[in-house]
Amino acid sequence: MKIALLPGDGIGPEIVAEAAKLLERLRRDGLRIETETAPIGGAGYDTAGQPLPDATLKLAQAADAAVMGAVGGPKYDALPRHLRPEQGLLAIRKSLGLFANLRPARLHPELAAASTLKPEAVAGLDLMIVRELTGDIYFGAPRGRRINVAGEVEGFDTMLYSEPEIRRIARVAFDIARKRKRKLCSVDKANVLDTSILWREVVTAVGGDYPDVTLSHMYVDNAAMQLVREPKQFDVIVTGNMFGDILSDEASMLAGSIGMLPSASLDASGKGLYEPIHGSAPDIAGRNMANPLATILSVALLFRYSFARDDVAERIERAVQTVLAQGHRTADIVAPGERAIGTREMGDAVAAAL
Ligand code: NAD
Repeated sequence: MKIALLPGDGIGPEIVAEAAKLLERLRRDGLRIETETAPIGGAGYDTAGQPLPDATLKLAQAADAAVMGAVGGPKYDALPRHLRPEQGLLAIRKSLGLFANLRPARLHPELAAASTLKPEAVAGLDLMIVRELTGDIYFGAPRGRRINVAGEVEGFDTMLYSEPEIRRIARVAFDIARKRKRKLCSVDKANVLDTSILWREVVTAVGGDYPDVTLSHMYVDNAAMQLVREPKQFDVIVTGNMFGDILSDEASMLAGSIGMLPSASLDASGKGLYEPIHGSAPDIAGRNMANPLATILSVALLFRYSFARDDVAERIERAVQTVLAQGHRTADIVAPGERAIGTREMGDAVAAAL
């Protein structure tokens, strides 16, 4: 199992170090894991003058999977756009063909009070958002500015999905639903958008191959409301790039801290980039304060989706549950009056629980 480690910037190196600690622990248990580390984002710019250095891309291409920390920071904010850290992230997703973004939102019962929603609305929450990541209005052409017949400036973008693009993301979502509660909700705006009408037709057709999965459809505006009204009605949600961008951030708040949520971005063969959903948190970088659990849970996803090792994924997820049940908390999830532990101590506790 060749795993590339891409720490990035800010808290990235601190949290990826805890993921590496866990991988080292698993290696000692007999798993044949090889890791290699390379810079990305601002760190890539500092060492090689580019946010995605060629050597980093080569390493990621040669690996079976990659674990990323986060990129970005005030030090790089004044750089021209093509050298900014986020470009490294966009470029690696595109170069590796990572079209399926999986974002599970699970609320650990011990953290029910950390959500801004009422505990009874979110306790036991376990949903998965599958977002298409390489198409839609973010990539559709033409786009730009033009002068209209009235001589006014207009901005425009193109929402666009091809049938194969919809079919492949639908298959990913149905396959995941099959491993869960077999309920898939496809989110679109088919009452208004032609792209969505096609989306709905294709998802419905793919559903014919999955008679054991219950498929439903929901308009995106309703989905935004249902996610905060009764989030536990959902098992798996599949949606396009823009709707998924917005809904997955909304769903992240259901689960309390941003420091708890992992993500996976997969290509057609299951190769993936695994990263926490949060950013580089420059405000707490270098202070041993960051919560490493989102990154550690991303490693669990890596074993589940890139190596089909559900057993290892579950071991990691159980270890995280154990440390939370034992009362270990980093600063972002600590209750008032409780003592918080640091990034390294949390990583040690998970490795010990494993
Ligand atoms: P952020 O996610 O970095 O931080 C938001 C808030 O959450 C901060 O208060 C931070 O301290 C806290 N936080 C984040 N992760 C945490 C963790 N693991 N443990 C405890 N607290 C945590 O978002 P931001 O402040 O908007 O952005 C900071 C930088 O990160 C920017 O340069 C931005 O472009 C970049 N960013 C990168 C990614 C990515 O690499 N995928 C995603 C979002 C933002």
